[in-house]
Amino acid sequence: MKKLFLTAGVLALGFLQAQHSEWGYQGAGSPEHWGEIEGAGKCGQSQKQSPINIVTQKVKAGASMNALKFNYNLGDVKDIVDNGHSLQFDFKEGSYITYEGKKYNLYQFHAHEESEHTIDGIRYPLELHFVHIAEDKSSVLVIGVMVKDGEENSYFEKLKVFKTLAKNGKEETDIAFNPEQMYPKNKNFYTYQGSLTTPPCSDNVTWVVFKDPITMSESEIEDIEKHLPKSNNRPVQPLNGRTVSVTK
Ligand SMILES: [Zn+2]
Repeated sequence: MKKLFLTAGVLALGFLQAQHSEWGYQGAGSPEHWGEIEGAGKCGQSQKQSPINIVTQKVKAGASMNALKFNYNLGDVKDIVDNGHSLQFDFKEGSYITYEGKKYNLYQFHAHEESEHTIDGIRYPLELHFVHIAEDKSSVLVIGVMVKDGEENSYFEKLKVFKTLAKNGKEETDIAFNPEQMYPKNKNFYTYQGSLTTPPCSDNVTWVVFKDPITMSESEIEDIEKHLPKSNNRPVQPLNGRTVSVTK
């Protein structure tokens, strides 16, 4: 597989902020025009794009829960960046997962309002993305967590992260944040090969989307939403014959 990135630092900026300030979610820079913008990468070209609608009747059993192992540290968020497209939490080095024996370093976390993936057409109020980069920098693994309206999330309450933030670019933090605490208890997941959901839409991404949503209270969801651009979610993309697998 060709290496897309020279260094983690280049990846850091070229990847989610994409260095294309002209893209967005409304108007001339909206998702249907991403393929036309300069440096659009795979947007508008690749047949393996994300997000998708996951049709539970059509997913194939066969993914293994044991294939996914977490090695997260606590106290890992070094800064929070308002990149104009989402609020992004950059993690310090040291936390990683392994998936199918391959090591992926935890890189950053951000949120979309409403969810990008849909499950049987159901769209959730929020979708959290935990972005991991392969040790050899050849690929990416994103863990997607759906958030639904419900009981207060005790871990989110503990974090208070969004509540204290102002939208002012980059803010250094010392937040102790173990992502696993934000994952559902039941770790069954869907997985498929897809792409970044923002330019440059690089299609070397393994997606792991937990089957179960987590819950947050309405006011917690609002606390996150008020720091995000409205509707920062890309429309679902054609499956084009790809297989979506699910853990048994
Ligand atoms: Zn995302």
